Amino acid sequence: MSASRWRLTGVFLACLFICASSWAASGNPAVYVTFWFDTEDFILPQADDAAKRLAEMFAERNVQATFKIVGEKARVLEERARDDVILALAKNDIAYHSTYHSVHPTPSEYCRDLDWQEGVAEFTRREGVGLDILRRVFGVNASCYGQPGGSWTPQSYAALRAFDIPLYLDVTSHVNLNDRPFWYCGVLNILELGDCVIRTGWTGEEVKQACTRFDRAHEKLRREGGGIISIFYHPCEFVHRQFWDGVNFARGANPPRSEWKLPPLKSPPEQEQAFAAFETYLDHIVRHPATRLVTAREIPSLYPDRVYSHPLTEADIQTIATAFQQSLTYVDLGGRVVSAAEGLLTLSASVAQSDATYRPNELTLEFAYGPASTPQRFITEGTFTWGAIQDAARELLQIAREAKLLPSVVWVAGRPVRPEDFAVTLASVVASGQRSGRVPLHRGELEAKKYVADNAPRLWGWIIFPEGFNAPRMMEIARLQAWTIKPAILRSQN
Ligand SMILES: [Zn+2]
Repeated sequence: MSASRWRLTGVFLACLFICASSWAASGNPAVYVTFWFDTEDFILPQADDAAKRLAEMFAERNVQATFKIVGEKARVLEERARDDVILALAKNDIAYHSTYHSVHPTPSEYCRDLDWQEGVAEFTRREGVGLDILRRVFGVNASCYGQPGGSWTPQSYAALRAFDIPLYLDVTSHVNLNDRPFWYCGVLNILELGDCVIRTGWTGEEVKQACTRFDRAHEKLRREGGGIISIFYHPCEFVHRQFWDGVNFARGANPPRSEWKLPPLKSPPEQEQAFAAFETYLDHIVRHPATRLVTAREIPSLYPDRVYSHPLTEADIQTIATAFQQSLTYVDLGGRVVSAAEGLLTLSASVAQSDATYRPNELTLEFAYGPASTPQRFITEGTFTWGAIQDAARELLQIAREAKLLPSVVWVAGRPVRPEDFAVTLASVVASGQRSGRVPLHRGELEAKKYVADNAPRLWGWIIFPEGFNAPRMMEIARLQAWTIKPAILRSQN
């Protein structure tokens, strides 16, 4: 692909975005639709043609979809000399879907018993391989990532930040905030969207029903003041009768490459029916008034995180302190939202300011992950001097700045305190304006943990997992990262 073609694509994208922005600025609540295709079947050659046909279907309509491509899929497209498929995909948005998808061990399997740091390193090592292939074949970084099947891990998020991938786009219930876009571990997430995830089946009646559901979701989002609808498929499902990985890797099976079987195909009329059904559904959406198709590359700019672009004011600090005394979770400051972690860092920065020069001030935040582990030993009551609280707040900030993590234990006058308890204790002193005397320890629980799923069997229903697979320790690590969860706010339209 020539450099001039890339530049033209960039100009085209910019124009699309400006059009969408000015339309939104006209006062209509913005309803965005994102189409994404998990492009993963590297066994069935006919899946290559299906991907090309879908990619061209979007290009013919001057719109784009996001193709989340498996690294091994990109590699076999080259091996099969399918430059035509690569070129068709490159006219759309290129995103990432793991190195090998369902070849064992998948991400949840290999992260299952690792701690936070080990899991981040292992995800980076294994999934960095396929990402490098994708970047080389398509000449761009991936715009987003989504896990293979149900193989989600919390450690993937820190690796994504290092990969410079700002968006997690998939459908999974491991972590979910009210079925709307949210931030988790400093990455924007579009996951479960409730009735705003709308697929169609392959019959005329199913398409009709999907169009009706789309219209209903569109109207609901318009009334909410705008939002996003997520629609996903796999190119292979247009041509096969059974998924490529179910045929080969179900229930932990891991045959060598020489024994991989081709999945059974749909008949040619059945394949045509699938493409025709999808095309009808796509046209309904493309022609729908007050609808804009956006790719994963465009989504982060629709949901800017203003906590890091504007300093927090003294009024914001007081709002956080008051809110933490009620419930330790994210806090809405009116148009921008701080996570529990950001709230704790804010209160720590406020308390850490020296007493001689203290005056209510503006604060600028740096991002930090939640703690890496849960303390086994900690105190549950006690009273500390103001100086000890202030020293502990300063130490917390230093750890967060250097390790980019909240500490698992906050040491106050040499005694171990849970970060939850320290956060609520800080909230009480900031809310009361106390800056001297003695400070009693308050107890808190991280309410935001409720947005991370329990390690229930339904979480691990993916057919590729070994029988009875679950990951209790990994979900405990995931709950610690609930410190970072908060809703994502759609960019103001005025
Ligand atoms: Zn997949």
